[in-house]
Amino acid sequence: MIDKVDVAVLGAGLAGSTLAKMLADMGWSVALIDRQHFPRHKVCGEFLSPESLQSLEACGLLQLVESLGPRTITEAYLIESGGSSVSIPLPGRAIGISRYCLDAALHEAAAKSGALVYTASTVTGVRAHHAHHAQHQHANQAQPAQPAHSAQHQHANHANHANQAQPAHAAHCHGYTIEVRRQGHNFELEARTVIAAWGAGRRVPVTTPGCISGSDLGGQPAMRVRAANRSAEAEPSVNRRHPAAAGTAHVGVKTHFTGIGMGPSVELYFVPGGYVGLAPVEDGIVNAAALLPRELVRGTDSSVAGIIAAAARMNPKLQQRLAAAVPVPGSQAAVAPVDLQRGPAAWDAIPQVGDATVMIPPLCGDGMSMALRSAALCAPLANSYLRGEIGLARWEETYTAALQREFSRPLRWGRLLQTALGVSWMPRVVMGLAQLSPALAAGLIQATRLKPER
Ligand SMILES: Cc1cc2nc3c(=O)[nH]c(=O)nc-3n(C[C@H](O)[C@H](O)[C@H](O)COP(=O)(O)OP(=O)(O)OC[C@H]3O[C@@H](n4cnc5c(N)ncnc54)[C@H](O)[C@@H]3O)c2cc1C
Repeated sequence: MIDKVDVAVLGAGLAGSTLAKMLADMGWSVALIDRQHFPRHKVCGEFLSPESLQSLEACGLLQLVESLGPRTITEAYLIESGGSSVSIPLPGRAIGISRYCLDAALHEAAAKSGALVYTASTVTGVRAHHAHHAQHQHANQAQPAQPAHSAQHQHANHANHANQAQPAHAAHCHGYTIEVRRQGHNFELEARTVIAAWGAGRRVPVTTPGCISGSDLGGQPAMRVRAANRSAEAEPSVNRRHPAAAGTAHVGVKTHFTGIGMGPSVELYFVPGGYVGLAPVEDGIVNAAALLPRELVRGTDSSVAGIIAAAARMNPKLQQRLAAAVPVPGSQAAVAPVDLQRGPAAWDAIPQVGDATVMIPPLCGDGMSMALRSAALCAPLANSYLRGEIGLARWEETYTAALQREFSRPLRWGRLLQTALGVSWMPRVVMGLAQLSPALAAGLIQATRLKPER
């Protein structure tokens, strides 16, 4: 089977689904492809920060998310292993909503906007077709491309025509073939452009004929094969013999619980080198997500329950909190390794969004905000590329600069906080400072946040 689309978005988590919706709303034909069945549980604190809510609003998705019955969160409550604690008000309203509900709802939104959603479909390879240089572009692109099905954007394209006396000088790839495996069968999709939204943990070979970086700046085409991304998801347990887990520094796990009453707070319990976060989500459920050093996991049976119990033994207040907790069957997930030092890499043979680009330490609770922001930065550039207004090199250059500009500061502070966590006495010191000066604590949290969208 071969389908042809304008854009293939590889990975249908938060970043991929949102990007697919945006591009479909612009009138392009979009394929959104994910290896998993949905709904599915995913390792995440399920805390949508005030910044995430702004991003959802900007792309018209907030109302949908609010309709899923999320819990409001207005403060962060930090508890270090010695028992001292501090409460920090959040700079705005946040919410707790499970990824089980959220991601499936975003698929529906993308599909409603016209995206073709392929689930249980693993992308196994991406092949770029041959590059065409500026002269060919001129010959082939007297008429810039237009989206297929949007009256509003047809109009925008006419205006664009008038402004485009000079077609783009940038070289374009002649499209891509995406190799997909579904239920034991292989099929291929053809796309004019392709965007990776496959999270932090996949290895997919991307074969490019060298047209992507620098060919419209005079670079020589050269065949390159990239194996994108490095970690692996192992659900529901972290197997110590898993090759990916063998050399890892951190593992992430999550489970839902009933039997815990929570107010409008996210609770972060620190243990040496890591933390366990509790957040209220829909239907009276509490999500527990942990990011823990590998050493802690080694002494356990590698099950999610075993890992969380081991963490709880290192923080008596957490142990008390979980005393009456009942795990929700089937809600467990685990991921290893969690690589907190990657990126930001806006481009790895193809454009990347979300965790594929960079991962802010989960402690900051802002990964979803960064995923949404990267999608919002990438969508207009993809649109310009598809219209023939810019080439791939310009797209890469502009997108890379935008990510650097917006993500560098929160990443720097987020990584500093994460590193501080590894020093046994640091959480106590940070909390002591936060008690003395709530404004200082609020400022530190703010430093890990994206600035509002312009
Ligand atoms: C322990 C932990 C706690 C966290 N807590 C929070 C929090 O409270 N708040 C917050 O904002 N962020 C949090 N994060 C970060 C947040 O989960 C991520 O930033 C967010 O999920 C990124 O979204 P994404 O769409 O880029 O990637 P993902 O949500 O990972 O989606 C990627 C998708 O790609 C699919 N995929 C991968 N490979 C392929 C392939 N070859 N073919 C097809 N599909 C493929 C996967 O199945 C997946 O569905 C946390 C992370 C961890 C590890």
